[in-house]
Amino acid sequence: MSEPPRSIDHRFPGVPTLEGAGVRLRRSFSNNEVPLFDPFLLLDRFGSTNPEDYLAGFPWHPHRGIETVTYVLDGSVEHGDTLGNSGVIGAGDVQWMNSGSGIIHQEMPKVSPGGISGFQLWVNLPAREKMGVPAYRGLTASEIPEVTTDAGDRVKVVAGSYGRVEGPVRGIPVDPTYLDVRVPPGGEFEFPTHPGYTVFSHTIDGAGTFAGDDSRPTTAGETVRFGPGGPVRVRASEDGHRFLLVSGRPLHEPVAWYGPIVMNTPAELRSAVQELRSGEFIKHRRPIVEE
Ligand code: FE
Repeated sequence: MSEPPRSIDHRFPGVPTLEGAGVRLRRSFSNNEVPLFDPFLLLDRFGSTNPEDYLAGFPWHPHRGIETVTYVLDGSVEHGDTLGNSGVIGAGDVQWMNSGSGIIHQEMPKVSPGGISGFQLWVNLPAREKMGVPAYRGLTASEIPEVTTDAGDRVKVVAGSYGRVEGPVRGIPVDPTYLDVRVPPGGEFEFPTHPGYTVFSHTIDGAGTFAGDDSRPTTAGETVRFGPGGPVRVRASEDGHRFLLVSGRPLHEPVAWYGPIVMNTPAELRSAVQELRSGEFIKHRRPIVEE
């Protein structure tokens, strides 16, 4: 017998939040939701056509113990880090960054006529890899495969796989799936999930009704978490439905969280803060490239 489809067990409308040096964004979930989204820690959606909402950006700041995933939908974001990486993340590009033991970077949205929009997702690292060597993956839009189904669904595969198509981000400890799905008006979409994995969806545009949930369709900007079960199944509204579909294997480890640093114990947080003060935070460094 196949398992019944997963149904929504939590809904998050997103909370207006000021982050970085003064960027207005909507926070879907964060430290108040631990461990509901394990192995995911945070989801922010940024988007505005008013430069005052995003120009201040996210100047130099540290990370330790996590992976940060930036997906730009519109506009572009300049970045630089202590590994020596620098460049521009453009529309449709993904930056999947493993902070490991420590990285200091900046993420600065550029003013563009159409404004900017996109997501940042934080993916937790298992205890054994939190002090690992930092790694950087920059993927351009053309490197991210898009599958078009007979029914007219379009699925961009960043991580994990859809059918026989595998995303370019591989070898991540929590075995994530990260899809950007577009279902045409009135269409249906189904995706099989791993038993025991955490699964959530964020509606980008339009609306969709997920299986087992008759209360109301999801709306743009809303994040929903699914309970246990088999596939995720959704029917798009008459406006169609574009959404992120994300899943991963839970870590079931203690979470100690201080701003951009997420470890397992308060003692590990204390030593991180101490190392930031004494200049010993960065274990692997190449020169910061100023543009
Ligand atoms: Fe950051």
